[in-house]
Amino acid sequence: MRLGVAAALAGGELVAGDVLVAGGSVDAVGVRPAGRAGLAVPGFVDLQVNGFAGVDFLAAGPSDHLRAGEALAATGVTAYLPTFITAPVPAYRDALRALAATPERGPRRLGAHLEGPFLSRAWPGAHPPEHLLEPDLALVDELRALGPVATMTLAPELPGGLELVEALTARGIVVHVGHTDADAATAHAAFDRGARALTHVHNAHRRFAARDPGPAGVALVRPDVTVTAIVDGVHLAPETAAGVWLAARERLCLISDAIAAAGRGDGTYRLGEAEVHVAGGACRLADGRLAGSVVTLDRAVRELAALGATTAEAVHAVTAAPARLLGRPDLGRLAPGARADVTVLDGDLRVVRTLVGGEEAFASA
Ligand code: ZN
Repeated sequence: MRLGVAAALAGGELVAGDVLVAGGSVDAVGVRPAGRAGLAVPGFVDLQVNGFAGVDFLAAGPSDHLRAGEALAATGVTAYLPTFITAPVPAYRDALRALAATPERGPRRLGAHLEGPFLSRAWPGAHPPEHLLEPDLALVDELRALGPVATMTLAPELPGGLELVEALTARGIVVHVGHTDADAATAHAAFDRGARALTHVHNAHRRFAARDPGPAGVALVRPDVTVTAIVDGVHLAPETAAGVWLAARERLCLISDAIAAAGRGDGTYRLGEAEVHVAGGACRLADGRLAGSVVTLDRAVRELAALGATTAEAVHAVTAAPARLLGRPDLGRLAPGARADVTVLDGDLRVVRTLVGGEEAFASA
């Protein structure tokens, strides 16, 4: 099947010509004659999505997961980590069982991202403080027996936090530092012991200061650390987002941190146990604290491009960068032989078509 595109981003390079897909894989790029319009790029990978299109993943059943996945495909997403915020342990159990029971259809669910419950009481964000716990490896092992856990965000300064970083890393779980009061020394220690990323930089962690750079200061300058960011025009001022981009470059991953309200209108939604009010592109608890976002990953790409990134660089932040963090060379790549997880963008970087494993997952009307 020819996609009919004018060009593709293959290995980060713009290649003129069409893309040929066969048997679920990319067969060729740069095929002549080129199609009429459109840029084929690798399918987007979202490392942190709490819900979408009315579905809150913490309370979702298999059919809800499939419905949300369909809606995510319309935003160019072909793989994602359903993210569970801090909740009572039984809610985690139910959520992981439901995720494990969801059939493979549409965008790929790569395992859960557990954001919590081992987070700082000083920086809970929208996480309910009453359910925060101290690091507990036995609990993680119990949960991962129920359903796939790919990533965990934790606060390494908690008692036993650094040991937990090591133990999770040994289990193949990607550890992010986040919702943390760690100072620079503790952040360095966490990254030295296996943590690989900082969750939503400059949001819900110890603030960067001249002589107290905290986790952001460390993550932004360490070449071995990935920085995730919510570039939605709400969580970061444009200058802050641009600064993050200039420091992290190819280590930056855009995340949506989307909640059930994403893909819907303003109103009141659930995020775990919390009620979230959505208005004007911002999601807030009753007291005004931010609680996730309604940004879609394709809009985040456009926001990063507007800050000065090239199309290739902005796409990298939702494809190759998250794939590398996850250790998934089968994702985030468009090249002959690669899996045909492909998103087609128009000239304004809007999604017009999404393929997962060569199957049509979205086509604009
Ligand atoms: Zn968070």
